[in-house]
Amino acid sequence: MNRPSFSRVLLKLSGESLAGDQGYGIDPLTISTIAREIKEVVDSGVQLALVIGGGNIFRGLAASSKGMDRASADYMGMLATVINSLAMQDALEKVGVSTRVQSAIAMQEVAEPYIRRRAIRHLEKGRVVIFGAGTGNPYFTTDTAASLRAMEINAQVILKGTKVDGVYSADPKKDATAVKLPKLTYLEVLKMGLQVMDATATSLCMDNNLPIIVFDLTTEGNIKKVICGEEIGTIVQG
Ligand code: UDP
Repeated sequence: MNRPSFSRVLLKLSGESLAGDQGYGIDPLTISTIAREIKEVVDSGVQLALVIGGGNIFRGLAASSKGMDRASADYMGMLATVINSLAMQDALEKVGVSTRVQSAIAMQEVAEPYIRRRAIRHLEKGRVVIFGAGTGNPYFTTDTAASLRAMEINAQVILKGTKVDGVYSADPKKDATAVKLPKLTYLEVLKMGLQVMDATATSLCMDNNLPIIVFDLTTEGNIKKVICGEEIGTIVQG
């Protein structure tokens, strides 16, 4: 692997990215492919923390729009992220990457509690740390959890793996004039309402000058490329 450009990163995966073609739940083949890619970067000495969404299992907002209490639905969504975190821990350990899950909601039988200093120690020892249960609070998203945790562990960048190869001026599936925007400022993202991260997460990154790189996770080898500084996606910074 080429020389990494970053030494500590936070990788944000949506829940859907674990679902593969089936579109829901966890696809074992997809998750083990991602795990192998993560192993390669961890073996090259990069400290990597992960935040995984829950959208492949449950989304609070969607359930509340059908009448469920929003806070209860959000707690269910947070539990979904823990399921994904445990699946990823299993996949990573199968390929020999020592991994810890830290949950923002106490569940000591399945995960460590979130303890910032302990998380940093794990990273220093070369372990992957997966932050489960989002921020632990309803009305937030795992994008916001990713921004918050990235700041807390002093990550140099948030890598947001998606199904598209960056941010476009419009939805390329619906608008033939849509163009890829390789560089954006936080304010442009907020003003243009671009779907990079939600506004809370973007503002948090803006206030703390934390760059976000959006890239296509579905192409094998891209995690390594983005960590080696190849400009394959969209970078959002000040
Ligand atoms: N969630 C929450 N607080 C958080 C993080 C997540 O309430 O700090 C809930 C929320 O209901 C959300 C669900 O967990 O819909 C799954 O997270 P998200 O939608 O961010 O997952 P993704 O879209 O990345 O798969």
